[in-house]
Amino acid sequence: MPSLHCIHCACTATCSFSFWRRQTSEGQICGREIRERALGTRRWGASKTCVESCRGHCQAVRGEKVQQIAVPFLLALPYFLIGLALLVWPWQYLVPSDSNRKKLYRSVRGTVLGHFPSEMFGVGAMKITTQVQERLICPHCRVRLHSRGESFVCNACGNYYPVIAGIPILIDVSSSAFRIDSYERPRPLSGAERAKRAARDLLPRISLNVAARRNYQKFREMLFNQSSQPRVLIVGGATAGAGMSELLGEQRIEFVESDVAIDERTTLVCDAQNLPFAEETFDGVIIQAVLFYLPEYGQCISEIFRVLKPGGIIYSESPFMEQVVGGAYDFYRFTLRGHEYQFRQFEKLSSGVSGGPAMATAWSIQYLMLSFVQNAALRAATRIFCKCTLFWMKYLDLLLANKPGAVDAAAGTYFMGRRPGEARTDEQPLPVEAQPATTRVPEYRGLIQSDVRAYR
Ligand SMILES: [Zn+2]
Repeated sequence: MPSLHCIHCACTATCSFSFWRRQTSEGQICGREIRERALGTRRWGASKTCVESCRGHCQAVRGEKVQQIAVPFLLALPYFLIGLALLVWPWQYLVPSDSNRKKLYRSVRGTVLGHFPSEMFGVGAMKITTQVQERLICPHCRVRLHSRGESFVCNACGNYYPVIAGIPILIDVSSSAFRIDSYERPRPLSGAERAKRAARDLLPRISLNVAARRNYQKFREMLFNQSSQPRVLIVGGATAGAGMSELLGEQRIEFVESDVAIDERTTLVCDAQNLPFAEETFDGVIIQAVLFYLPEYGQCISEIFRVLKPGGIIYSESPFMEQVVGGAYDFYRFTLRGHEYQFRQFEKLSSGVSGGPAMATAWSIQYLMLSFVQNAALRAATRIFCKCTLFWMKYLDLLLANKPGAVDAAAGTYFMGRRPGEARTDEQPLPVEAQPATTRVPEYRGLIQSDVRAYR
């Protein structure tokens, strides 16, 4: 700790603030002394020459320094963060993430053209192929459906399922939380809505999926090993998921994009817990950030197993350290181990972190700040502020994603697996029952040591 010499009595007093020391011809003196001399307001006369006075002086300097440094620092912090954000902003579009890279293009295109492609409004133009239509089953009684005009009809139970703008609405109203009569023909977005979406798209994001792009490349390779013209079901496919754009651009794959919402990519409306397809219809199924919305998610996983062909590929992503995003429809979070365990009837190909701890921390800060405000406009402003000042944190996940500790604090995890069994030819009969589940317990890959007590 540097010593400060009193210029009056040459006694010393401890002072930890070297910032304030100045070397003068009289020795080291503190900045306050210099200032007071310059202003002619010296309060330290020759008569007050004692160590206690000097110590008091140093303490006064300390308090003054805190006041002079901390207050401007706190006032300048928001401007500093905004400045940093503006500096780093262009990198948003260079980072290897398709959502970032094409964001600007999509945003401009969306503003000019609207988000719904024009063919969506063509009357009677079915969005699923005849081959898929022939494999549709009644969500209520599970028998094959028949096309009649612009609807599907079940001859067994008499249920009628409308087709709206080429999108079959295959909801069993007796068991689902959704209602057929709540669906209507999608209308083009108004100018204000388009501008709002475009502005939202231009804001930096605090999320970064560190695994999806690579995993979808692997998914694609495995699909083509199975079939030259694979068919893939995307559960929750109303909009393109993170990292998915390259896969969606593959013309040789037939996609069926199901959801409970009609949006730019929906081709069929159904409840994810009750998939209206015959057994072994798909070579691959993708369910990205959907499971946690389903009160009976186990039913959905069984359904995926049923509609996948033997040897078919499942890819799932689900949040772990994420706050509530789906409001009344948000039910669960999974650790990596929990996520793997839910898919235990599948043969695991790979699993790991899809969103890292840094992204989870940025979300936590945003939700902490949102907890203070209830007013809708203030909440929107808080979100914008957080996006603009915290988005850079996600890049830390590029360093952390493969570290074992990230597993314990991941924002989200992924699981890729295969339905057991050999691919079967069309001549072979369908199995009576789905293959029994293998009850393998997955390995734990984080760093937390298990104990009966909680570690913190
Ligand atoms: Zn029926």
